[in-house]
Amino acid sequence: MNFDFTPEQLAIRKHMREFAEREIVPKAQMNDRNCKFDWDIAKKIFKEGFLGCPVPEKYGGLGLDYVAYGLMTEEVNRVCSSTRTLFSVQTSLVALTILKWGTEEQKMALLPKLCNGEFIGCYGLTEPEAGSDAANQQTKAVKDGDDYLLSGQKTWISCGSIATHALVFATVDPSLGHKGITCFIVDTKSKGFTAQEIKGKLGLRASDTSSLFLDEVRVPKENILGNVGDGFKVAMSALDNGRFSVAAGAVGLVQGCIDASTKYAMERITFGKPIGEHQQVQAMIADMVADCEAGRLLYLRAAHLKNQDVRNTLETSIAKLFCGEAANKAGHNAVQIFGGYGFSDEYPVERFFRDAKVLNIYEGTREIQKMIIAQDALGIRYANGKQTGRPTALAYVG
Ligand SMILES: Cc1cc2nc3c(=O)[nH]c(=O)nc-3n(C[C@H](O)[C@H](O)[C@H](O)COP(=O)(O)OP(=O)(O)OC[C@H]3O[C@@H](n4cnc5c(N)ncnc54)[C@H](O)[C@@H]3O)c2cc1C
Repeated sequence: MNFDFTPEQLAIRKHMREFAEREIVPKAQMNDRNCKFDWDIAKKIFKEGFLGCPVPEKYGGLGLDYVAYGLMTEEVNRVCSSTRTLFSVQTSLVALTILKWGTEEQKMALLPKLCNGEFIGCYGLTEPEAGSDAANQQTKAVKDGDDYLLSGQKTWISCGSIATHALVFATVDPSLGHKGITCFIVDTKSKGFTAQEIKGKLGLRASDTSSLFLDEVRVPKENILGNVGDGFKVAMSALDNGRFSVAAGAVGLVQGCIDASTKYAMERITFGKPIGEHQQVQAMIADMVADCEAGRLLYLRAAHLKNQDVRNTLETSIAKLFCGEAANKAGHNAVQIFGGYGFSDEYPVERFFRDAKVLNIYEGTREIQKMIIAQDALGIRYANGKQTGRPTALAYVG
C-alpha cells in the first residue's frame, strides 16, 4: 500500500477543505439549531460536482478514486455531519449502487443527474420491524401486468423527504426469505408515495430523516435494480460503500474535535497556564490523535481495495466500527476539554458529540459490525464471501 497521496488527491482535499470552511462552517451552528436542511449549501455542492466524486466521467462524475472520495468525505464531516450525510446517501448508497447494479439505460438516465444534484436519491431499506434484521422486509411488491405495486413503510430514511428517487427494497414473495427481496427505483412523485420527516433527533439535525409510506405505488419492471430476488445482495453491496463513507466521515469528526480542542486548550488558562499543559488534558488529546491516525489508515486500506475492485466487506466493517467508536470517544473528550463551554452550541464540539452517536447506529450498528468481524475471524461466515487468503489485520495475528 502506498502511503503517499497523489497531487490530485491532495488537491481535492484542499479544495474541499476550503469549500467547507467558506460555505458550511459559517452556517453549521444555526442550521443545526434550526434543524434546517440547507438548500443553498446543497446547491453549491451540486455545482462543484462533489457528489459524483468516484463516479466515472462517462456518467457525469469526477472520475476520482476512493482515496480522493474518502478524503473529501472526511473534510466535509470535519465541520458538519449533516452535510456529510448527503454525500454518504447520494454518492455511496445510491449512485454507486446504480453504477454497480444498473443497466446501461438506468445508468445513463440517472447517474448524470444524481451527480449534478438534479436528482436526489435515498436508500429505503430500514422498516419499523427490519433494522439490523434487514432481511425481515415487510414491504410487498405485487406483480400487476408489467408493473409491480409496492406497499409498506420505511423508516429512518436519510434524505427521504427531499428525494426525487428512492431505492426501495421490497419482497416479491415473503416465503422466499431474503431471496425474495428486490430493489426498485421509485420516482417519489408516484401516486401513493408519501414521506414524513422525523422530528426531535439527537443529532444530524440539519439533515433530513424521514419515514416513507407506500400505498400501491406502481413501478414498471424496467425500474428493478439488478434482477428480481437480487435485492438483499444489492442492499449489502450498497452498505459496503455506505459504511466506507461513514468511516471516513467519522475520522473527519475526530479531526474536527482535535482542531477545536487543541486551539481551545492553548487559549484557556487555569492555575496560571493553558489547560493544554495539564497532563490529563494532553492525555485526551493524545487519544484523539492516535485514534484519528489509526482510523484514517483503516478507511484508506478499504479505499485501496475498492480502487482495485477487490471485495472489502471485512475491511470496511472494521473501519466503520473503529472510526465510529473513535468519533464517540473524541466527541466525549472534546466536550470535556471545553468544560462548561462544551455544553453550549457556542462551540461546535457539543454538535460533534451529538452527531457522533449515529455513527455506531446507522448502516449497521456497532454490534452488527462486531458480529461480521467476529464471524469472519471464527470462520463461521467469511465477510468477503470466501477465505481470500489475503493478508488482513486479522490474518496477520495468525
Ligand atoms: C439518523 C438516521 C439515519 C438513517 N438513515 C437510514 C437510511 O438512509 N436508510 C435506511 O435504510 N436506514 C437508515 N437508518 C436506519 C438504521 O440503519 C437502523 O436504525 C439500524 O440499522 C438499526 O436498526 P434498528 O433501529 O431497527 O435497531 P434494532 O435492529 O432493533 O437494534 C436495536 C439494538 O439491538 C442490537 N442488536 C440487534 N440485533 C442484534 C444481534 N443480532 N446481535 C447483537 N445485537 C443486536 C443493535 O445493535 C441495537 O443496539 C438511519 C438511522 C438513523 C438513526
